Amino acid sequence: MKIVFLGTGTSQGVPMIAHPGDGCDLENPKNWRTRCSAHIEMDGHHIQIDAAPEFRLQCIHNDIKALDTFILTHAHADHIMGMDDLRRFCDLKDGAAIPVYSAPKDLERIAAIFPYAVHDDPVPKGYPSFDLIEMPGVLELEEGRIESTPLPHGPVKVLGLIFTEKKSGKKLAYFTDCKSLTEEAYQLAEGVDLLVIDGLRQSEHPSHMNITEAVACAQRIQAPKTYLTHMTYSVDHTTTEASLPESIFLAYDGLELSL
Ligand SMILES: [Zn+2]
Ligand SMILES: [Zn+2]
Repeated sequence: MKIVFLGTGTSQGVPMIAHPGDGCDLENPKNWRTRCSAHIEMDGHHIQIDAAPEFRLQCIHNDIKALDTFILTHAHADHIMGMDDLRRFCDLKDGAAIPVYSAPKDLERIAAIFPYAVHDDPVPKGYPSFDLIEMPGVLELEEGRIESTPLPHGPVKVLGLIFTEKKSGKKLAYFTDCKSLTEEAYQLAEGVDLLVIDGLRQSEHPSHMNITEAVACAQRIQAPKTYLTHMTYSVDHTTTEASLPESIFLAYDGLELSL
């Protein structure tokens, strides 16, 4: 199993428009963050989690050339606005619709924003086409399973995702945009080889975990390695990572991990 962090920032990522200058060191390329999304390869099956506004450039920079399954964690702008660029992956599959999984209310949002991608007729070449499917609790693929669980994110819920590759037995949990984890999420994450978790910034936030909260969750899950993601401009890579406990790190755009 492999994960590529296409983007690791918030909408207040780095650099910002009229960058305030009191955040992180822009000389360090690891502080240049696009909006949060990730690409997972499970025994050759390509799964895209979310499509940031920079999705097209993220795919080019990270050499993403295939996409079999798309999962939207929730329909906030920083996760959904790149979905139009899925059109290229439809093209590469001779116009086949991409299976798009999410919760029902988020599928409704996709259909409202991209009505031209949701229809029964064959898709003209060059257009995106989505096959909208409610994300089940367990999605069984030939190459492995993807479990999902709702997590609190302010007034909405996001999908927490747990991937288990059949061939290797390797397990990865991806918990972005959450204020806390539920008992079910802790149970599903038991024994993960890698945990990816929301760690927005140092100070508290109503709908995201701050770094202290993310570290506490990570210490309960006890994955061999944990990476924080979805950071704001205030999180400097070098100084923040130096302050984290052993086996907890900051993700950065372009980071690729193999399990
Ligand atoms: Zn977000
Ligand atoms: Zn969000």
